[in-house]
Amino acid sequence: MAEIIDGNAVAEEIKEEILAEKARLEEKGITPGIATLLVGDDFGSKMYRGQVEKNCESVGFNYIEKTLPAETTEEQVIEVVKELNADPRVSGILPLRPFPEHISDSAVIQNIREDKDIDCFHPANMGRLALGEPTLAPCTPSACIELMERVGVEFEGAEIVVTGHSNIVGKPVALLALNRNATVTVTHIFTSQAGNLEKHTTGADILIVAAGKAGLITADLVKEGAVVIDVGINRVKVLDDEGNPVLNEKGKPKTKTVGDVAFDEVKEKAKAITPVPGGVGAVTNMMLLKNALTAAKMQAGLE
Ligand code: NAD
Repeated sequence: MAEIIDGNAVAEEIKEEILAEKARLEEKGITPGIATLLVGDDFGSKMYRGQVEKNCESVGFNYIEKTLPAETTEEQVIEVVKELNADPRVSGILPLRPFPEHISDSAVIQNIREDKDIDCFHPANMGRLALGEPTLAPCTPSACIELMERVGVEFEGAEIVVTGHSNIVGKPVALLALNRNATVTVTHIFTSQAGNLEKHTTGADILIVAAGKAGLITADLVKEGAVVIDVGINRVKVLDDEGNPVLNEKGKPKTKTVGDVAFDEVKEKAKAITPVPGGVGAVTNMMLLKNALTAAKMQAGLE
């Protein structure tokens, strides 16, 4: 059976490192801080905002919340970004997407100061990543790498297959792996539609899955002894032994969070695997704090 990579434990380790580094910065009069920028009231974004606030509190970072009504114009949002760019309490800005339709993501992101772009959305930071010289690396992709590095996974020459090619996870994690001299293959929906997913995934020493499709990766798609990193977050109905939905006390179907990997069967075949929840997500939160800390050092000329 696979080693279950404990994301919560890795997150705790990183948190301790952040606290130690933050104490050193405080001696120089520097406190890192994160500002979230939400336009409208998207439920998922509000949940994430709450989590960021809690995480900032837990390490003593400044937290600044900017929440604007859905009807705010793009120009007004950019004005707020400029205020945050100039605010010394803020070392990193986190735009919470999706924005309302009349606001262009790229217009907002391109106005974020490159050294405050803690989720690495700015084209200049994505460019540095592609060149192998990242200063601020994107959080979820970095979390995947960090989890593997902390359990001693070797990248050089390894066959890494990424499933998912989004700008947020798939592409940047492929670049991070390539920068570590792995042999990287990126698969996506069109790979599946062409009937070629299995051909690639079964050759993977390391399989990183970020598709947003529960149960996509079954045991027959995984090589014996592979390391499997499951980025997916999906809400699914809890089923009983007969496959019927289990109801809660209100008579509504009970739901649970799962990844993209059929965990129970794949763990029997893999060498190591991350669970969902308790895997990549837990570490992603810490990578955001770590980036805010790095950004604070960059802004103080210490990095
Ligand atoms: P996205 O929808 O932008 O991209 C999904 C990718 O998966 C696309 O490249 C698509 O081509 C591919 N895909 C979809 N169905 C596929 C299939 N059947 N076969 C092969 N490829 C397929 O999603 P995203 O923002 O990259 O997020 C992916 C998943 O990761 C989601 O479940 C999301 O919730 C989760 N996520 C987790 C974290 C975290 O911190 N743990 C962070 C971001 C996203």
